[in-house]
Amino acid sequence: MHLKNLLPNYINGKWCPSSATESLQVVNPATVDVLAQVPLSPQEDVDTAVEAAAVAFSDWRRIPPPTRVQYLFKLKVLLDENLDELARTITLECGKTLKESKAELRRAIENVEVACGIPMLMQGYNLEDVARGIDEIMIRQPVGVTAIISPFNFPGMIPFWFLPYAIACGNTCIVKPSEKVPLTMQKVFELLEATGLPKGVVNLVNGAKTVVDAILEHPKIRAISFVGSSPVAQYVYSKGAAHGKRVQCQGGAKNPLIVLPDADMEMTTRIAADSAFGCAGQRCLAASVAVTVGEARHSFTDAIASAAQTRVVGYGLDEGVEMGPVISRDSQTRIEGLIQQGADEGAKVLVDGRKVKISGYEQGNFIRPTILENVNPDSSLSQTEIFGPVLSLMHLDTIEDAIALVNGGQWGNMACLFTSSGAAARQFRYEAEAGNIGINIGVAAPMAFFPFSGWKNSFYGDLHGQGRQAVEFFTQTKVVVERWFKDWSRQF
Ligand code: NAD
Repeated sequence: MHLKNLLPNYINGKWCPSSATESLQVVNPATVDVLAQVPLSPQEDVDTAVEAAAVAFSDWRRIPPPTRVQYLFKLKVLLDENLDELARTITLECGKTLKESKAELRRAIENVEVACGIPMLMQGYNLEDVARGIDEIMIRQPVGVTAIISPFNFPGMIPFWFLPYAIACGNTCIVKPSEKVPLTMQKVFELLEATGLPKGVVNLVNGAKTVVDAILEHPKIRAISFVGSSPVAQYVYSKGAAHGKRVQCQGGAKNPLIVLPDADMEMTTRIAADSAFGCAGQRCLAASVAVTVGEARHSFTDAIASAAQTRVVGYGLDEGVEMGPVISRDSQTRIEGLIQQGADEGAKVLVDGRKVKISGYEQGNFIRPTILENVNPDSSLSQTEIFGPVLSLMHLDTIEDAIALVNGGQWGNMACLFTSSGAAARQFRYEAEAGNIGINIGVAAPMAFFPFSGWKNSFYGDLHGQGRQAVEFFTQTKVVVERWFKDWSRQF
């Protein structure tokens, strides 16, 4: 029997009940109010969505790119008009502050804007006379049905690293949001519906692992974009590839932020605190390890400790709040356990944010900013993604030591340097093994017209999300070699 009062899926241009027999609660992480019930859709729902997307593909790919992007122009306007309501929904289900929710949506909208340039971005190239009288043309064609699987921490932005490019290139698409935060995509799909997109071009299937597995195995899905933790990214990448699909998987991170003694300490501390504790540390580009070099140790340590202690923690909808809760009670327990593990492995808990109660929200999943000083680089914690407002602090002697630390680990999502030396900045930019580099920047999030370039265990695949690389991912190249003569008999 189907369950009632569940969030619907959106398939073939219609809101339809999932055939799920199981569901999960969607919980506000600050108030622990239950916001909705999300269905754990079964494989049949994915099959129905894929069939709709496969049928829609044949017409959608024939619609000229300049016409296809008209739907994206409409979507951009609708997203702008509904930004406040969408931001509120993100804060309700995800916990971040309203300001952070709005910033995330602006990043989503940028991707829609960039994808509106598809008539230029999707062009191929050609050369006349590759041999006498023979011309060669490279064209880009859409790949077919595509799928997007997203994590909990940016419910409004991450699907947009892929969706606008996928459909602008002539593909059809199935989105599976995180089951922890499905409400934002419900609202986004209402807007997608309002653009008048033909039925079946975009589809929404709610659920968890069963939906992911059905996507990975479905023979008609040609491309999968995934963002989430590295173990799941690795699983999705290998299983999707084994089923013959192109797959791009962005994974977890542990991002170092290096502070040289010549950095502007006031600016550095402010930016480092925003990076480490913004979004309660639940950003794949959060600085989670701060490394001071030489004399930076003294001034930075005191200043970052003070920034951690004074950060205003509370409900993201309340005025003046700078940091919200973490996503769930499980997450809170896991993070507090990792803080204890750090202490057990020899680190000093310089600022301890555990066991906090926020007045009015006593049941919420709150942890205050925490700093673990002198985390041993050889300890298991130094390589573990905590994904909470916890900054590990280490002190080294030279920039070379710091770069060796950056390059010694398994992660490669982001590395940042704070300095006033161009030479040091150049050395770092050149040598650091990470795909996103910040120089006097604490969250080096590439704009929509640049790729989101994770490296090492932070990314599985070759083409990243956003910009030109997204266009390459969502198109397959076809090369035509062509010969035409007016009088064939005279040419041989
Ligand atoms: P997650 O891996 O638990 O879930 C991501 C998606 O995978 C969800 O849609 C979920 O339903 C699905 N999933 C979870 N377990 C699965 C399994 N066993 N089999 C198949 N599918 C499964 O990640 P999360 O907790 O939602 O998000 C946080 C993680 O995402 C962090 O590790 C963070 O660093 C990472 N992240 C990375 C980036 C990036 O750009 N590299 C961006 C945002 C978040």
